[in-house]
Amino acid sequence: MIVRLLLLCFLSLSLYGASNADLLKRADAALKSSKKSAVFTAYNGYKNLYLKALIESDTVLQKKALKGIVASGKKLHIDVSEYQKKLSKHLQSAVKPVISTPQVKRFVKPVSVTKPTIKPENTKKKIKIIHTHSITKAQWKGNELVITFSKNLTKNRVNYFKLEDAAKKSYRYIFDIHTSLLEKNYNLRKTPLKRVSLSQYKRNTVRLVIESTTRLPLRFWYKQKQLLIKPGIAKSVHQNVSLKKEELLPKKTIVIDPGHGGKDSGAVGYKKNIYEKNIVFHISKELAAILRKRGHRVHLTRTRDSFVKLHKRTEYANKKKADIFISIHANAIPRSGKIHQAYGIETYFLSPSNSKRAERVAAKENIKDMDNMNRFGKDSFLNFLNREKILASNKLSIDLQQSVLRALRKHYSKIKDGGVRKGPFWVLVGAQMPAALVEVGFVSNPMEAKRLMNRTYQKRLAQGLAEGIERYFLKNP
Ligand SMILES: [Zn+2]
Repeated sequence: MIVRLLLLCFLSLSLYGASNADLLKRADAALKSSKKSAVFTAYNGYKNLYLKALIESDTVLQKKALKGIVASGKKLHIDVSEYQKKLSKHLQSAVKPVISTPQVKRFVKPVSVTKPTIKPENTKKKIKIIHTHSITKAQWKGNELVITFSKNLTKNRVNYFKLEDAAKKSYRYIFDIHTSLLEKNYNLRKTPLKRVSLSQYKRNTVRLVIESTTRLPLRFWYKQKQLLIKPGIAKSVHQNVSLKKEELLPKKTIVIDPGHGGKDSGAVGYKKNIYEKNIVFHISKELAAILRKRGHRVHLTRTRDSFVKLHKRTEYANKKKADIFISIHANAIPRSGKIHQAYGIETYFLSPSNSKRAERVAAKENIKDMDNMNRFGKDSFLNFLNREKILASNKLSIDLQQSVLRALRKHYSKIKDGGVRKGPFWVLVGAQMPAALVEVGFVSNPMEAKRLMNRTYQKRLAQGLAEGIERYFLKNP
């Protein structure tokens, strides 16, 4: 039996967190047990803690969690060699790479510039400054800013984010680049941009800020040793990210996963005839149609009202070599709950949750980890521990959430932002690509359920999702 995601659809609202120390204590206690199930709980606890530690850049916790994974994994005869490797790396080096998230500006790559250290005068050794990665040139070529590096530029050296404040008419586009700046005086002024600055922000981080008084349709891409940025000032700077120039956008493979299906109806609405499986199926089909029109390759995990196991859904996406995986769901709270108050749109990406309730659900879900360990436990879960993928999923979730809200608010009032959240969603675990799960609304809420049943609303929602996808690809080509 596959644990139904329906359970997870209930987790929302007022979540409270357990501290990492508590979680670690719990896992440590479970590890000592002679019961296999307890050791397995410990194993999952450590894995969740490890993900959490990666996200929080907590290297001490990473080490403790890895030790726990290895110890519990060995007891359970699970192949933990990958974790073992990570652990030995931790033990070897004091300097650890940290994860970057869109909000926290930090870098993935280890230190690449060695700074001279002060040595006693009688030391004969020469002190060398080795700049292994640096900016050699920065200049405008027409309306394109070209930054050239001493070596090839990989995506994970760049952390791009925006700070937009419409009220203050301040739109800042920021690139934190893990490199060093040899020359200090680049004059990169450019009208009508308010500011273009390039500076050594931190020891190993160069920050490029492009500031405008209007929102820019900024695009950027990588070309070997170059970072090319088109702020989009050639045309009207008043235009938003243009989604009409589809021919400029790369064509992608997208797998859409309409939640539930067949015998699994998912959440049931405030009235008996409202089923999550039908609503999400209609929205998924609309979304697929829009994306196909824009030239993307789109696949659905189910094309009719049929039951599909969770792991089959991500397996399918992996087989199709999808660039992104998007699972569509609808939320609900029990009928005894405050059905009129609980509504809104939420987007989740895979990550350990910081709530007790989510943990309980995750524990239940992760029991399946046992059966599925051969299928994807070893490869896929580890795969998803990949920092860049968590980051990409986080970014994808933000774009989806914001675009859906924007699209719907044009036409409706009371469109509630439930936020982008971390969740231990099993359906996302096996995905080898950036993945997100959208809870399009609460079928238990009479107002929202009526909207969700309405074809026009479904179309507009799908339109918002499609825009979110395009925005994501525009920024992450
Ligand atoms: Zn669901």
